Amino acid sequence: MRRIRQYFKPDSVEEALALLQSYDARPLAGGQRVLVEEPSEPVSVVDLQALGLDGLVRQDGRLGIGAMVRLQTLVESALVPPLLGDAARREGPLTYRHAATVGGTVATGDALSCVLVALLALDAEVHIRHADSSQTVSLEDLLADPAGVLRGGLITGVEVLTGADGTAFAMVARTPRDQPIVAAVVRVVRRGDRCAEARIALGGVAARPLRLREVEALLSDVP
Ligand SMILES: Cc1cc2nc3c(=O)[nH]c(=O)nc-3n(C[C@H](O)[C@H](O)[C@H](O)COP(=O)(O)OP(=O)(O)OC[C@H]3O[C@@H](n4cnc5c(N)ncnc54)[C@H](O)[C@@H]3O)c2cc1C
Repeated sequence: MRRIRQYFKPDSVEEALALLQSYDARPLAGGQRVLVEEPSEPVSVVDLQALGLDGLVRQDGRLGIGAMVRLQTLVESALVPPLLGDAARREGPLTYRHAATVGGTVATGDALSCVLVALLALDAEVHIRHADSSQTVSLEDLLADPAGVLRGGLITGVEVLTGADGTAFAMVARTPRDQPIVAAVVRVVRRGDRCAEARIALGGVAARPLRLREVEALLSDVP
């Protein structure tokens, strides 16, 4: 278990960002990674629980997911597209899902994360706050260069599309309860009897989950 040097629990994003900078601290979300990493140097942490980043808002065909929303909430909430809820259920055991957050999962960028694969297929955009600016980037761009995009900032939320005419999730694992060796998600939007838009995302095949853009393009406007 990682030793904590200093612990802060701010109640605003601005204060959290200032603390992260002043104390060279790390954001602490569900702690499923930060607190279990190999003990090395003690770490200063900024707990994100009191920042009010735990909401779900569905509007205009999109779902906003606060960074501190727990993976188990994705499993249980009727607001969440079934594809994402199903992926969250496969991410790990119940105790893990009650602690781990969407923001922590995005920041970690684990190659085997079912949640990240589903978020990619749902065209996820990530909202990030820095001390002096805010930005929204595609999850795909964030996963390509997490440190370069985050630059010590805070993920405040993720936004996904909610509509689809067809979705599918498949994975191969040693047992149904294990983490996947490979996971695949497909989302399709139809126009008449043709495929208007396809998203295909894979996990476990590269250092980060990725989208198969060339295959998606081949499926566009296909009966
Ligand atoms: C069975 C299992 C095994 C796993 N094994 C590994 C593994 O070996 N290696 C690995 O890397 N992952 C692993 N993961 C994935 C990892 O545990 C999760 O992706 C993630 O850490 C869980 O989120 P959390 O809320 O607990 O994050 P935390 O542990 O709190 O944070 C994770 C990281 O994200 C940062 N962070 C958290 N929230 C934010 C935010 N809002 N903005 C910016 N940064 C933030 C933290 O500073 C930290 O660096 C595993 C998951 C499972 C289910």
